[in-house]
Amino acid sequence: MDNANALFFDGHAGRLRLAHLPRPILKRGETLVRVEAATICGSDVHTIHKRREVLVPTILGHEILGFVEDFGEGASRFDARGGNLEIGDRVVWGVVAHCGACGFCGRGLTQKCSRATKYGHEKAEFGSEWTGGFGEWCVLAPGTTVVKVPIEIPAGLLCPASCSTATVFSAMEAAGDLSGKTFLITGAGLLGATAILVSRFYGAKKIFVVEALEHRRLKAMELGASDAFPPGDLLRNVELPPIDVFLEFSGSNSAWEVGTRFLSTGGVAVLIGSVFPSKDASINLETVVRRMWTIRGVHNYGPRHLIRAVDFLTNSEMALSLTGLVGPWFAMGQYTEALEQAVKPETYRTGFLMDRK
Ligand SMILES: [Zn+2]
Ligand SMILES: [Zn+2]
Repeated sequence: MDNANALFFDGHAGRLRLAHLPRPILKRGETLVRVEAATICGSDVHTIHKRREVLVPTILGHEILGFVEDFGEGASRFDARGGNLEIGDRVVWGVVAHCGACGFCGRGLTQKCSRATKYGHEKAEFGSEWTGGFGEWCVLAPGTTVVKVPIEIPAGLLCPASCSTATVFSAMEAAGDLSGKTFLITGAGLLGATAILVSRFYGAKKIFVVEALEHRRLKAMELGASDAFPPGDLLRNVELPPIDVFLEFSGSNSAWEVGTRFLSTGGVAVLIGSVFPSKDASINLETVVRRMWTIRGVHNYGPRHLIRAVDFLTNSEMALSLTGLVGPWFAMGQYTEALEQAVKPETYRTGFLMDRK
């Protein structure tokens, strides 16, 4: 495979462009991956529909799975666990490649590295085009967190590891001690659905879910939620017990306002979903003080969260119930259908499987 296909986003709302490019020439420290599959994350959808700004042209896609194909001179031969990394290894990798030396990296905020390369978010430059998942190659920059994954785990489970699943683990860490706690999860898309399982994994006592779509509420119950409500019900006639951990995945201000009504004294609220421009939300500061709330914002994740995500997806029986949430798959040439599928209410994740013709 010398020439290969990639889908470029040129800044035209709702459109991608299929292009044929030569095989990348690796620079020092880079690793070449042959992409097996890439899912279309909600933030890709926002970008394609111009609700978020990116520099164009660009290859989107940051939930990616692939096989190591080649190493540039001086490239790391180790994965994030310290094991050997070899040609042919099946891998996922962190959405942000970090320098390890800047102030943010020093404080453990590697996702905010001041010299970061962010997969699926970089402007394509001549000779450095392959930075996203919607292409048959992806070039990994030095400082990328690479995690080996077993061959027998389905692509549908592993692909979202490097955004959805790792972000859920990052949010759980931000929420602190989880065992025996009562959770409220607002938004039961792929992240919220994953968070239901991970809350159970960490020993949650009760998990309440707020979600507008009925089939997602049903799925939430299947995944082990204690109860699931449409947002309007909580405003009118449903009372919840005091919530210890409130995880906000929907990005909606009203979800935030409804959720905090039930947050207990000493409760923790973690905001994850608000990753696109939004209006200011209201909050009563006296309530924050008197109830001793902790409010955390979580954007992306660090290397340890990706390792935890892969461990969960590959070792936990629970994770198997996420398998059916990803699909159907498309070939890159079917990008119009894939983008239509991605915005259907029944879709959690759809994506591109590269060997599909
Ligand atoms: Zn994402
Ligand atoms: Zn850095």
